[in-house]
Amino acid sequence: MDKLYGYVGKIARINLTDSTVAFISTSDYVPKYIGGRSICNKIFWDEVKPGTKAFDPENKIIYMTGPTTATGIPTGGRTVFTSIAPNSFPEQYAWSGIGGWFGAEVKFAGFDGFILEGKAPEPTYLYIEDGEIKFLSARNLWGKLVHDTQRKLEEIHGKDVKSIVIGPAGENLMRNASVTTSNDNVAAKAGLGAVFGSKNLKAITVRGAGVVVPADIKKVLELRLKMSHPAMIPRPVINETEHGLPGATTIVEGGWQRAQVACSHGCNQHCMCLMLDMKSAFSEEKVNHVEKCVSPLAFNMTIDVPYGGPGGPGGTFQTEQNHYPACKMLSREVDPPDTSDPYFEQEFAPAPSDILNYWKHDFDKGSIINDLCNEYGIDKWDVIIWLLPWLAMGKNEGVFDDIDFGMEIDVESEKFIRYLLDMIVYRKGYYGNLLAEGMARAIRTLGKEKFGNTIYHGRYSRILDKQIDIPISLEGAWGHTVHWQGRGFQGSIAKPAWVATNLHQMNATRDSQTIQHHHDTFEHYLELKDDPCRSPLTAKAVVMGENMAEIKDSVTCCDWQSPNLFWPEMEAEMFSAATGIPMTKEELLNVGERSRLLYRAIMINHSGRNRQMEVNEIFAIMQYPDPWGETVTWDEWNDLVDLYYAERGWDKETGWPAREVYERLGLDEIADELAESGKCR
Ligand code: SF4
Repeated sequence: MDKLYGYVGKIARINLTDSTVAFISTSDYVPKYIGGRSICNKIFWDEVKPGTKAFDPENKIIYMTGPTTATGIPTGGRTVFTSIAPNSFPEQYAWSGIGGWFGAEVKFAGFDGFILEGKAPEPTYLYIEDGEIKFLSARNLWGKLVHDTQRKLEEIHGKDVKSIVIGPAGENLMRNASVTTSNDNVAAKAGLGAVFGSKNLKAITVRGAGVVVPADIKKVLELRLKMSHPAMIPRPVINETEHGLPGATTIVEGGWQRAQVACSHGCNQHCMCLMLDMKSAFSEEKVNHVEKCVSPLAFNMTIDVPYGGPGGPGGTFQTEQNHYPACKMLSREVDPPDTSDPYFEQEFAPAPSDILNYWKHDFDKGSIINDLCNEYGIDKWDVIIWLLPWLAMGKNEGVFDDIDFGMEIDVESEKFIRYLLDMIVYRKGYYGNLLAEGMARAIRTLGKEKFGNTIYHGRYSRILDKQIDIPISLEGAWGHTVHWQGRGFQGSIAKPAWVATNLHQMNATRDSQTIQHHHDTFEHYLELKDDPCRSPLTAKAVVMGENMAEIKDSVTCCDWQSPNLFWPEMEAEMFSAATGIPMTKEELLNVGERSRLLYRAIMINHSGRNRQMEVNEIFAIMQYPDPWGETVTWDEWNDLVDLYYAERGWDKETGWPAREVYERLGLDEIADELAESGKCR
């Protein structure tokens, strides 16, 4: 193949067992698999055997940039990891996106990605500089917190290196451990930090002096202007007097300082909110935190997030007039609603959010929770949305009478939170070890009936003006907690939105909400709202969202801006600007569908996925009433799954894609392999 614009042409195969490196040409995969997640899926299918467990040396961590990475194309700095994920229950193949400056530096150093295989004989870190990869001892780094590790690597190799590191949580195989960049971007959810730990890999440090040449520089500039306007302006530090998510804020005595920063190379929105001079969990000195969408809940969770109307800021059902990336919500720069929108009143109909009563506002304690998660290298979502609410609800219902953590359970106490996370991260005693295995496994060991299903009576719907009963475990599916699933936190979204997110979750292996949640137009909402489980539009929108998620993680683009319902060519324009390869949105959708189909084939081959497993996995949580008192019946749920499988061209009895689907997308050899074990007809 001629020069690959947008790529640097090489993927490194890094064997940690014998400290060897081999190189693969990126053009072995491109353009059939365009980058990021679609190449990861192909490498995983080819190289990892069914039956491999997350912490086996045979498990591989596959990391890929995309063709836009380091080209200056907006949002292209985000990259992706895949692996067998320890944080899924059961362990399954999953992915994690990550921002930060690491991805661009990997390309500047001469690699489009790498495959990490084997297990180092002792604590190790990798140093990559301009095409050369060294295996160095991490004995002096092992045990260090995340920021101490980042600082030490900069001391050794210079301020300009870019590193990803794990903290003590990853070293101690805590199943929801994350991997962290120097500017606090994390690959969380799948628990990749623990896979790093299982391979004795503490960090990867990179420096590169190369350049990445996009094919169409004029188009790159055009995209920067179009996608950036008007957000790419200087951001002064602002003194805030309130804190929290829009619609659920609390006054902060003395105020706090906020700055806006970009997460990665090419970022056009600067959605990352920096909280300056916050209380540290580990020193007297103040620290800066990057605030993500979940972080504000650490400070206060007395009421649910008030999304209200169907077009709320999460971007579920949108009109052209009132369409904005959700990252503007994080940067607190949401434009005022356009009241000339004919659907304005329906779209923004306010709905009071439920009262939760998990913990009251405490600015210092919230800061400590965030700092502990940052420094230990733990997925904040699991701590803030699952572990702490579980303790708050269980305590309220008397469930933990017979648990002796060694300290009274009190999620409002900073001392207790420090004690709890220290116990889990360092696996101290029975409960430290148990909770390090993740909530799904811990609850089953303790007894799901009591420790998962006990009803919490403290939730109150202000819409119905009555108590709403929910279980004390906010479990969604595949060992992950709820996320826009109409229950528990973010329960105040209506049925048309949450049945769609449940379908996304059913088809995933981890929390699936990595594409600015679910997307659809308001016109569709008006057609499907009265019976969302019987509308083909629900299934169509979920299929679109899933394929677009593969594209987003392949091109690569940012979670908060892709897909853009009212600019459907955006990702194809980004891809063509980077590579010079003409690509229509329809052709790119085929690439997305191919990547998704490979992911499906992996799930069938490695995890025995079929319809029965999937419909059962998520049904239970849909039996608890949402804030409007709505649930889903078994028949409704199965009708929606029928519509979804039909839309995909998958067999309704088994959930397995038909041979013609594989053939249409050029994956005949995958169909042949599956057919050998009777999993493709
Ligand atoms: S908009 Fe936000 S998430 Fe997207 S690339 Fe920029 S900082 Fe990162």
